[in-house]
Amino acid sequence: MTTIPEFPSGTILGYPRIGRRRELKKAVEAFWSGATSADELEGTAAGLRSSTRERLASLGLGRTDSSIPESFSFYDQVLDAAVTVGAVPSRFASLVGADGRIDLAGYFTLARGEGDKLPLEMTKWFDSNYHYLVPEIGPETVFSLASDRIVREFEEARAAGFTTRPVIVGPITFLLLSKPSDEAPVGFQPLSRLDDLVPVYAELLGRLAAAGAEWVQLDEPGLVSESIDVPRAETLGALAATYATLGQLDRRPAIFVAAPYGSLDDALPVLAGTSVEAIGIDLVRGAVPASTPGLSTKVLVAGVVDGHNIWRGDLRNALTRAEALRELSPSVTIATSTSLLHVPHDVTDESSLGADLTSWLAFADQKVAQVAVLARGLFDGPAAIEPELAAAAAALESRQAAPGVRDGAVRVRTGALSAADFSRGDYVDRLAAQEEALGLPLLPTTTIGSFPQTGEIRRARAQLLKGSLTEAEYRALMQAEIARVVALQEEIGLDVLVHGEPERNDMVQYFAENLDGFAVTENGWVQSYGSRCTRPSILWGDVSRPRAITVDWSVYTQSLTTKPVKGMLTGPVTILAWSFVRDDQPLGETARQVALALRDEIGDLEAAGIGIVQVDEPALRELLPLKKEQQPDYLDWSVGSFRLATAGVADATQIHTHLCYSEFGVVIDAIANLDADVTSIEAARSRMEVVHDIEAGGFDHGIGPGVWDIHSPRVPSVTELTELLETALGSIPARQVWVNPDCGLKTRGYAETVDSLKNMLEATRIVRERI
Ligand code: GLN
Ligand code: ZN
Repeated sequence: MTTIPEFPSGTILGYPRIGRRRELKKAVEAFWSGATSADELEGTAAGLRSSTRERLASLGLGRTDSSIPESFSFYDQVLDAAVTVGAVPSRFASLVGADGRIDLAGYFTLARGEGDKLPLEMTKWFDSNYHYLVPEIGPETVFSLASDRIVREFEEARAAGFTTRPVIVGPITFLLLSKPSDEAPVGFQPLSRLDDLVPVYAELLGRLAAAGAEWVQLDEPGLVSESIDVPRAETLGALAATYATLGQLDRRPAIFVAAPYGSLDDALPVLAGTSVEAIGIDLVRGAVPASTPGLSTKVLVAGVVDGHNIWRGDLRNALTRAEALRELSPSVTIATSTSLLHVPHDVTDESSLGADLTSWLAFADQKVAQVAVLARGLFDGPAAIEPELAAAAAALESRQAAPGVRDGAVRVRTGALSAADFSRGDYVDRLAAQEEALGLPLLPTTTIGSFPQTGEIRRARAQLLKGSLTEAEYRALMQAEIARVVALQEEIGLDVLVHGEPERNDMVQYFAENLDGFAVTENGWVQSYGSRCTRPSILWGDVSRPRAITVDWSVYTQSLTTKPVKGMLTGPVTILAWSFVRDDQPLGETARQVALALRDEIGDLEAAGIGIVQVDEPALRELLPLKKEQQPDYLDWSVGSFRLATAGVADATQIHTHLCYSEFGVVIDAIANLDADVTSIEAARSRMEVVHDIEAGGFDHGIGPGVWDIHSPRVPSVTELTELLETALGSIPARQVWVNPDCGLKTRGYAETVDSLKNMLEATRIVRERI
């Protein structure tokens, strides 16, 4: 490039695309149901993109300086990249038209599957709660520029008077996140296809330049992660080669490589040695890097506004950190640390948070405004933004001093904890006491907790919220539901019963609503994957439990049956992982507070005669830090908080936990350290692969590898269930094995639930007879 266009003084790496009132979700689901056409959906999407641009401009981003990212997606940005470069797995070849393109319906089919064609696998996007679709790459993948959607969106913006900045997942990250296709030979590395992929990116950059794009953003978070199993030297070699090639193109926009979710470490000097024009540095997660050769000619885009949390934060400190980058390069600009995808749209959409809490928060729109302010401060000097800096500092001070943020009683309790609070008695003694107390058969059968959340249940909850049902009427309806679920479980013949969780809107929000220290939002939706959104609670203060939460429900359930009823709680790590957490103390400290609240609840359940309590920790794996050096500390506090929550019970009380993923290997020691008496895990989807890890890990407590994949309405046959159980018994002694589904049943219908559970019991009967 001869003349480099100026990089915008302030920008964001991406903006929520689901819509302020989840308009995109509704439009996409209407299209799926056949209620609307592809053209109508395109129209809605164009409308959303247009209002996003207008909004961003009104919040202070420039209309024509490339500061507005073009970060829309109908479903997922990694799927978008796959479709852009033509990486469609062979099982979906029929979706590709003669022109090599895939239409909107085909795009969604990749994400959702069709008939017996499984969709692309879904997995977590770095250490966020967002899930992306995993591209499948093999030697047979033919890369080509198969979609010009990204060019068309740029042109659409142009026609409306904007010069925006197209955004796409970069080629290194794309291949690092891909998995080998079905056709690929053993040991195949998608990264080995880099040389064939880069020319497609080159072509795309050429098209964008021709359309008038001045800057393009290539997202390369793959560079900051150590949990990707490609040797680092290979990744760095690929990085140097790719950006040397792209850099040398004579027709291209200026290149901005963004590396959110951590620090670039040894990738920074490599990137500095290429001819990319701008590098995004996550200064929220990473430190200001040391002086690096080559960096002084780059624009350094200081990611100082946290895209990952909802706090207003310390603006003065953010400005100082950005200024520190000036030691490394004369051109420094302001940005968010990550895309704003992870935060809700707008605090001003909330009416019930109270003035104090509201003043401490910044959702996406507030963060955009912060970027604009800081950019002004960086260029015109801090004095120019002194009122804003002072206001942010005042909000921070008010937060630090506010009642509830620090609760003396909670602090005294966490301060007084000793090692004994984290340990139960010997497992052998517990086992004996529990066998005596519970008298369960070999291969005990149970479920993971929830039963189908029917339309009536949801309606009742909505009516309670609106006030058209009284608290007592609602309670009676839920009790009737519980009685039905108990009768059903007795009829099917399950050994350990559950109440079915009808009273819970969500396994985290339910507890957040019942604990002090949390607030819940009305419109604070964030995209989880595709059209799925969650509304995380806000953990703003010290956590305590004003009164028992689940005890009445469990006691009622136990009164209906002589079989043991399992109390059902969400664990501390999962409560934190699926909420917005406070940033003013280490997470481990917050986890201990939540653990103590749960410990009280478990104590109350035990005192009320509940002999089994399950504490779900599906998010234990999810929060595992990307950087290996941070993992031991994480495992220490996360496992510790589970133990603190559960260690207060007598030997005879059986503690269960549930984890819903099957990549067990990495955290197997941690799972053993939880010291739960029984652990249920997802296993059916991976055909019991996980039992080998369990065997290899020498795990000797109770274990329930799921036999029924509850993610689809398919009913597993008795034969299939029997085989899975036999597989489990091939690796694990029978006395340890429990029989259960992969996960809770709340998203299932009753028809398949009843049939599947009946088959599960029949398979158990058959296998019990053989051993
Ligand atoms: N007990 C919860 C349920 O059954 C567990 C859900 C989960 O693991 N995500 O719904
Ligand atoms: Zn689960």
